[in-house]
Amino acid sequence: MAALTLERLAGKTWIARGPTNSGVVESGEGGVLLIDSGNDADAGRKLLRACESAGLKIAAIANTHSNADHCGGNAFIQARTTCKIIATATEAAFIERSMLEPSYLWGGFPLPSLRHKFLMAEASRVTDIIAPPCLVPDSDVKALPLPGHFFAMAGFMTSDGVFFAADTLASSEILAKYPVFYLYDVAAFLATLDTLAALEAEWIVPSHAPPTRDIGPLALANKAKVLEIASYIVEACASPVTPEKLLAGVAAHFRIELTHTQYVLLGSTVRSYLAWLVQEKSLSSRIEGGYLLFERS
Ligand SMILES: [Zn+2]
Repeated sequence: MAALTLERLAGKTWIARGPTNSGVVESGEGGVLLIDSGNDADAGRKLLRACESAGLKIAAIANTHSNADHCGGNAFIQARTTCKIIATATEAAFIERSMLEPSYLWGGFPLPSLRHKFLMAEASRVTDIIAPPCLVPDSDVKALPLPGHFFAMAGFMTSDGVFFAADTLASSEILAKYPVFYLYDVAAFLATLDTLAALEAEWIVPSHAPPTRDIGPLALANKAKVLEIASYIVEACASPVTPEKLLAGVAAHFRIELTHTQYVLLGSTVRSYLAWLVQEKSLSSRIEGGYLLFERS
């Protein structure tokens, strides 16, 4: 794969575009703050090289969250630079214990087919725990809470007005290709989208979409997709249905091809929607004849 290049977005802030966008921010004395480290050691190596060739030393990595495509380069960069790693407490647990993600998604000891780098980043040591809203240690970058996509995701606002929005906003291409974007807490995700729509920034950098100056349309498109999925699920529960059957229905309706990995990602997301819809009293849940059933209220 080609080398990564740093694009300057504002005075002290660059981005490196990849499958997962990263940020490079000059914000403290000891070197730059890297926001997310890509999906594996190879991505980490490219980010490190890009910074070194620009004469920038990585002092710390701030992870938006613990999904492997965001912290997969941590271990490589930390081994080479002894940089600090900064994350929220729950995300830190996942970053330091890679078995947690496939175990959580599967709901037990994970199948061998789930123990791979896309669900298990190489573990790295988190040196600083943050509780947003707060400043990132030794920098002028502000961490903001972005709950919803994963347990305790954070976004980062630089002093020159660039906001790194993590996995709150899927691009329209992703929404078209993989419409059921992974979600942990649907209510929190919707609230986060509302907060973001009102956020003032020069640039917004989603992890998986190009930087934009206008967050509104993307926030609306993502919200509309969540509501579309929720109403499909409610309709599909017109007669009692098991989560397993619902998952198959969602996959067929939204044309998602299921591998073992997609099965657990989609399954976890569908169960998150079910919990939200029960909480909202759109669905009820009971156990009958040994089956867990959901039905429209
Ligand atoms: Zn991601």
